[in-house]
Amino acid sequence: MKPKGQLFILSAPSGTGKTTILKKVMQEIGKLAFSVSHTTRQPRKGEKDGVDYHFVTVEEFKSMRDEGMFLEWAEVHGNYYGTSRMAVLEQLKKRIDIILDIDVQGASIIAEDDSQDSVSIFVAPPSLQELERRLRGRGTDSEETITVRLGTARKEMGSAAKYDYLVVNDNLDEAVETLKAVLIAERSRGHRLPSGEPIDLEAGR
Ligand code: ADP
Ligand code: 5GP
Repeated sequence: MKPKGQLFILSAPSGTGKTTILKKVMQEIGKLAFSVSHTTRQPRKGEKDGVDYHFVTVEEFKSMRDEGMFLEWAEVHGNYYGTSRMAVLEQLKKRIDIILDIDVQGASIIAEDDSQDSVSIFVAPPSLQELERRLRGRGTDSEETITVRLGTARKEMGSAAKYDYLVVNDNLDEAVETLKAVLIAERSRGHRLPSGEPIDLEAGR
């Protein structure tokens, strides 16, 4: 089998701190790409098209979906989200690991896809009360949106046991270190260095 990158899936109830953790981990771990999803949701303040998401209309999304351009897609909180198949496969082919920030529905689609080897990580908040505090503290969502997201969070927490790894985001630095440890351990399983380079045994390493 040709060597290729590893596909990582990261899920968490909205407001847990997954984006915050991931931004720090991406700065510290090389050869790791982030899969920029397509979404029909409106950009939040500070979000950039093509960086945080590819923001598209419902019509554009549906036409991409119908053409089979998504590796997985789901409706979350009334908006569509999808992962570009081509963008993911291109990185893996280049032997670059790629991390997907997707919801539990999308994660289960990929876990059931036998053609795609993946490692899944669930990030949990220390409690639902703390999750509510973080959602309010973020200041990006309306009261109505927060209520919807808390309802979804309760359901999503029930899926945590299906993931390969569980990281609790209580202390941010500890959560970052734990996620980095998971990524490095998985690279080692694939006979690679923490940097992502393959280990060349013949070179005496
Ligand atoms: P997500 O991407 O999971 O929806 P964010 O990364 O946007 O969540 O984080 C939600 C809010 O919680 C942000 O205001 C962020 O600064 C804060 N936050 C993240 N991690 C922690 C933590 N360990 N302790 C306290 N606040 C946190
Ligand atoms: P947010 O709107 O807060 O950025 O994301 C809401 C939820 O959608 C999060 O759980 C996030 O992981 C998920 N999500 C983002 N992109 C995708 C995607 O491409 N596919 C799926 N299934 N979920 C996604």
